[in-house]
Amino acid sequence: MNRVVIVICDSLRADLITARDAPFLTHFGQRSARFAAHRSVFPSTTRTSAASIATGCLPARHGLLGNTMALDEGDGLVCLSVGKPDFRDRLHRATGRTLHMPTLAERVSRAGETAIAISNVSPGAAYFLDPDGFGWVYNPAGSYGPGRRPLPAEEGLAISKGAAGDSTATERFCEEVLRGRAPAIALLWLSEPDYTGHHTPLGSPAHRRAIASADANVSRVAETVSSLDPTGENILFVVGSDHGMETVDETIDLDRLLIDAGLKHAPSSSDVVVAPNGSAALLYFSDPAGALVEQVACFLETQSWIGQAFVGPSLVAAGLPTNSTMQIALTLKPDERANSHDVPGHSHVVRDALEPKDATGFGQHGGLGKNEQRPFLFIFGGGFAPGVRERRSSLIDIAPTVLRHLGLTAAGMDGQPLPFHPTGTS
Ligand SMILES: [Zn+2]
Repeated sequence: MNRVVIVICDSLRADLITARDAPFLTHFGQRSARFAAHRSVFPSTTRTSAASIATGCLPARHGLLGNTMALDEGDGLVCLSVGKPDFRDRLHRATGRTLHMPTLAERVSRAGETAIAISNVSPGAAYFLDPDGFGWVYNPAGSYGPGRRPLPAEEGLAISKGAAGDSTATERFCEEVLRGRAPAIALLWLSEPDYTGHHTPLGSPAHRRAIASADANVSRVAETVSSLDPTGENILFVVGSDHGMETVDETIDLDRLLIDAGLKHAPSSSDVVVAPNGSAALLYFSDPAGALVEQVACFLETQSWIGQAFVGPSLVAAGLPTNSTMQIALTLKPDERANSHDVPGHSHVVRDALEPKDATGFGQHGGLGKNEQRPFLFIFGGGFAPGVRERRSSLIDIAPTVLRHLGLTAAGMDGQPLPFHPTGTS
């Protein structure tokens, strides 16, 4: 039976895969199908990316609009962290549903097959891989079986973010999931180098050790895959990241700017609610058809820290919905200056009242900057010829590629199955 194994190294930028820090991935990329123009979605946050990898759809269609989102739970719009363990239930209560499109787990479950995910990132990013419980999802905040049946603690994933936890997760993934349970789709989501990248300068010794830990964990999975399928015919092995990172430059307090401009009543008011997403921000309006949308848009045009603003109908161009209370999306201004470790790319970020730490000089993502929009993607086996694909690809192309390998239809997805052969050959 055909199977798919997916490993995501959170935040690993394609250009930071070097022979020095990631010897396995460097070599593996050379013997795999390598997608040289691979892009994230917008916002380029892990929770949005997880939903796009799971559904093969842009946020416009799956509905998960960032690491934070404004929800009206009865008392007006409030910005919430999507990463919290209870966000999935709160979203469901407030809107009557979770993701608006079916996930890979749902699609294979309907075909009588199984999906198992082990994710060492935020509970939100883990649960939105399969929010309605068609397969198994393991996360340190709580693990679930089909029907969203909570698993007993002894079957759970008692690990921490970082290299040690990732290594434990990888061992369990290889032994229990790949060798023991052998599901149609097995997905491992590593916390590194994202976890360390948010707390240290990109390219610093600690960040490079985090990249090396992800490299070692992928190597371990690759050994397991090749022992289970020496010819590479049955197992489609997908290794990639969800997005890259930029170095944080200035932090913009957008709530304060809007209040000072007379466009927002108070930090907790619902008239306009800023959902900060690192180097992006999404603005929700209690009256999405009201005059305030245009007034805020005009104000934002005067702000030099903004890279690009998408307002109303132009949200389509950013892959975002036009028919929700979210009516303005911003990506902040990036620049290509290198940091003190010679890693190029800076960006401003929007202050996050839910996580008000100063991350100046550390890694962040969320916007459309060149380096945060630089995930990597290597595919090995399953009929993929080695070599470089120059044509642009996206996170949303992974799910249709997975389904093609499993012989299932990808009807309704935004993405396209990825090409078996390198650019310029057939
Ligand atoms: Zn991150």
